[in-house]
Amino acid sequence: MTWKNAGLSEMPHHLQFLIHCENFRLEFSIGGFAFPHPNPVAAALFFMNLQPRTSNEAVNDIHSEAYADEALNDGQEANGLPKVPRPVGVDGNSRILWEYVIPVIVFHLMIPLAFLPYFFSWWGVAFLFIGNYLFTSIGIGAGYHRLLTHRGFKCPKWFEHLLAMLGVCSFQDSPARWVLVHRVHHQHSDHQPDPHTPKVNGFWAHVGWLFVENRDTSTLAAYDKYARDVMRDPLYLWLQRGLNWVWVYFAHGILLTLVGGLIGWLVTGTGAGALQWASVWLLWGVVMRTIFTWHVTWGINSAAHMWGYRNYETREDSRNNWLFALLTNGEGWHNNHHADPRTAQHGHRWWELDLTYWTLVVLEKTGLVTDLVRPNRSALSRKEIGDPAGN
Ligand SMILES: [Zn+2]
Ligand SMILES: [Zn+2]
Repeated sequence: MTWKNAGLSEMPHHLQFLIHCENFRLEFSIGGFAFPHPNPVAAALFFMNLQPRTSNEAVNDIHSEAYADEALNDGQEANGLPKVPRPVGVDGNSRILWEYVIPVIVFHLMIPLAFLPYFFSWWGVAFLFIGNYLFTSIGIGAGYHRLLTHRGFKCPKWFEHLLAMLGVCSFQDSPARWVLVHRVHHQHSDHQPDPHTPKVNGFWAHVGWLFVENRDTSTLAAYDKYARDVMRDPLYLWLQRGLNWVWVYFAHGILLTLVGGLIGWLVTGTGAGALQWASVWLLWGVVMRTIFTWHVTWGINSAAHMWGYRNYETREDSRNNWLFALLTNGEGWHNNHHADPRTAQHGHRWWELDLTYWTLVVLEKTGLVTDLVRPNRSALSRKEIGDPAGN
């Protein structure tokens, strides 16, 4: 008898926990809004009790050549698809994700403040780009994406955690959830149930998908299937509990504000100067930088699946978008990325600048990064469309 037709008590231990967790949810409240969340203790027990597994099937699937070739030949190319319905996991019963809606709206409402003479600073503008590189290209691009999602290189655990914590400071969800959603995206790109295809509509792909619960990507079963390897790490599990990753983000914002105030006090020697510096650091170093990095990252899901050129024939409508490639320091070479998801090198032609990859190359020279996965040229040559310049 297999567990599928056995009674509950005969199921493997970890599946019992899964059912247990699905049935017991806590209400978690912030500022009067209640967020249902899986019981953190039950969830922790569940993940601690996972049966050891050497590999993650979903990850192997999206990285296998067989998958890419099969997808190419199955007649499911997305280029001709004018529209795709929203994922089936989103319907009238899906709750609004206030933990996103409120910060996104409040942060955007603060934009005019940043341009008042008291708050405006060209150093602040420069920090948009510096912070974008540090927190988002290194934290999200190298950490969440190329390392945790695609395992495109190896590094010591402490350095992996450092990259992931920089990613948390970009306010783009916890590592486990980001990885889960992105692996589902690779498996079903531009076909249902891709969580954020612009074939639903451009707004949906850019930000709309973040605002409503999608049951394809929010159940413990989904975490088990797509992010088991990430959830086995106690740090990522802790960030996942309740809204711990959100508190880490706000703590880093307070820390940056205090550092700005301290520097302001040292420079001006006055309390008023310290207050002004703290305000500028809060507005430009945290709020404006977060808004900027949200949009450049979201642009990969929207613009880089709509506008740009294609080096490779792939089953989805991914594009190399030079504007978003420059803004994200490499992530915008998105057609290259879909053609060979495993490699940490997203720029494939000499002029496709990929600062995130070149940072990893420098780190490889220091010995901190190892096993940097280079493009699989033989597999890629089969998909090559030709040089867009006609060479
Ligand atoms: Zn994509
Ligand atoms: Zn990816």
